[in-house]
Amino acid sequence: MPAVLVGALGLAGLMTTTAAAGPAARPAPASPTIATAQEIARAYWGTDACGGAVTVRWARQAADINALSTWTSPSSDPYGDPADNRDCTITLNPAATFDWPKLCTVLVHEFGHLSGHDHDRRAGRLMSELYTAPLAQCVAAKARRAAA
Ligand SMILES: [Zn+2]
Repeated sequence: MPAVLVGALGLAGLMTTTAAAGPAARPAPASPTIATAQEIARAYWGTDACGGAVTVRWARQAADINALSTWTSPSSDPYGDPADNRDCTITLNPAATFDWPKLCTVLVHEFGHLSGHDHDRRAGRLMSELYTAPLAQCVAAKARRAAA
């Protein structure tokens, strides 16, 4: 029986109350911003999670959650056979506060789950359960955009 898995990336530190995030802080799922993060994830993990068939959406979640990913797997190990993952969805939380480096990092983290990567028990890693710092590749992409 396929299992439905959930990988959530929580906020580090204190919970924050809802910020008034404008449209620029909440890019549409089909936007170039999301596509850029997906490209970084593809390069980082060396694979196209779920064959590229990943639905990215925004939906309100608990205040201490940045995003979560869900997928179904035919394997008993949710991370054991990522090539067979289906129904892959990343849900971003509009109640969380995002800038580009954080949004990008959260997406690369979630694409990591969809690519077969469980949480890293160590703190301060990309696959740590709590977000602490942006991924260097995401920061670099921002610098490239600023220079363009
Ligand atoms: Zn996670």
